[in-house]
Amino acid sequence: MAASYNGNPVPADGRAITLENGRFQVPERPIIPFIEGDGTGADIWAASRRVFDAAVHCAYGGKRQVVWYEIYAGEKAYQKFNQWLPEDTVAAVRQFRVAIKGPLTTPVGGGIRSLNVALRQLLDLYACVRPVRYYAGVPSPVKHPEQMNLIIYRENTEDVYAGIEFREGTPEAKELIELLGTKYGKKIRPDSGIGIKPISKFATQRLVRKAIQHARDHGRSVVTLVHKGNIQKFTEGAFRDWGYQLAQEEFGQICVSEEDLYQAPYHGTLPAGKILVNDRIADSMFQQVLTRAQEYQVVCTPNLNGDYLSDACAAQVGGLGLAPGANISDEYAVFEATHGTAPKYAGKDVINPGSVILSGVMMFEAMGWEEAARLIENGLAATISQKRVTYDLERLMPGATKLKTSEFASAIIENLQA
Ligand code: NAP
Repeated sequence: MAASYNGNPVPADGRAITLENGRFQVPERPIIPFIEGDGTGADIWAASRRVFDAAVHCAYGGKRQVVWYEIYAGEKAYQKFNQWLPEDTVAAVRQFRVAIKGPLTTPVGGGIRSLNVALRQLLDLYACVRPVRYYAGVPSPVKHPEQMNLIIYRENTEDVYAGIEFREGTPEAKELIELLGTKYGKKIRPDSGIGIKPISKFATQRLVRKAIQHARDHGRSVVTLVHKGNIQKFTEGAFRDWGYQLAQEEFGQICVSEEDLYQAPYHGTLPAGKILVNDRIADSMFQQVLTRAQEYQVVCTPNLNGDYLSDACAAQVGGLGLAPGANISDEYAVFEATHGTAPKYAGKDVINPGSVILSGVMMFEAMGWEEAARLIENGLAATISQKRVTYDLERLMPGATKLKTSEFASAIIENLQA
């Protein structure tokens, strides 16, 4: 292990999380790197860290403690090292395996499309995981937001996000248009830009494996493959087919297809311990989450569908201020705010820290520190039900008390054991 990353010495009083047989081995004092984030990141991180430390203390006395270790990306990294994403930052995540981050500015004209995307690619964080559940009292645009309690596994490395695009009028675009016309008889207007959408069996199946494992390990009984395979047969349709294939080959003992469910021996009833694997076409899924949200538990989907669906589902239960997320692989996990840096509120101590706080809940769950995770979730739920919330929720909740970011964190801490 290096003695320091980004010039910061590795804390002497903690140990790295390691990996054994695909599972994190977590010491009593794990070193967890954090990226504070830009804009409102500092406000959010200060509040979140207090909640995390209080919950761990409350759950385990002094027996367990997170040893936080700051690493840099975004504006802070640029100011210190003239780099948006220093190599050491990525190396530190590799070394310590689990990290948490606030929102990062997307550099304009810096040669980097997005720091978040760069981090995902460098660490091959192939699954974007977004749990979506409702906290009682949060204003919502739907009648029964409490019916939604699902977790989305979005593929993170391919689809139209692979970045294979050619601008209209360039020699590359012209060459491709000509090739597709002459060789494959596919007519494309000459003034077109071209984008390529790769979806592979490898990336699909590792994602579906993770989604089914999640269902199995957390007692969820439905995994839904969401795709646009009726139109894009060899990419999205293949995603569906490879997903079913994986379910049958690797989880045949526990997975049941929708077709099998209505035949003997099941006759429409899924026995305990089994997982129904079904699929839905993406456009229909957007209706389904509005009208029959309670029927869905784990959703597994290609990159672009997942992007749209995650935000739509989050909006249904109260918006991005409370939506947590993680980007994971078989070796590393980075937990993160799902919203941006909201720069106009930077340093004002007003922003909602809920997204990072709930990402911390996911982090503690991944570490096996369930007790700390439950305390935080309870504390947050109790604080919201007391109508003590930050401005974004207060403006939509009649009779609510508006709290600053730091006050909201203090209220959650008061309510940890509520
Ligand atoms: P944004 O930072 O998410 O902010 C847009 C609006 O969303 C805010 O003005 C605020 O609305 C609301 N909002 C966002 N976070 C909130 C929170 N925690 N609590 C309450 N309200 C919240 O989006 P943006 O202005 O488009 O992006 C700003 C920068 O962030 C850009 O550089 C962008 O690239 C980057 N970004 C980073 C990430 C990431 O790191 N994961 C994600 C998205 C964007 P009101 O003004 O109505 O209160």
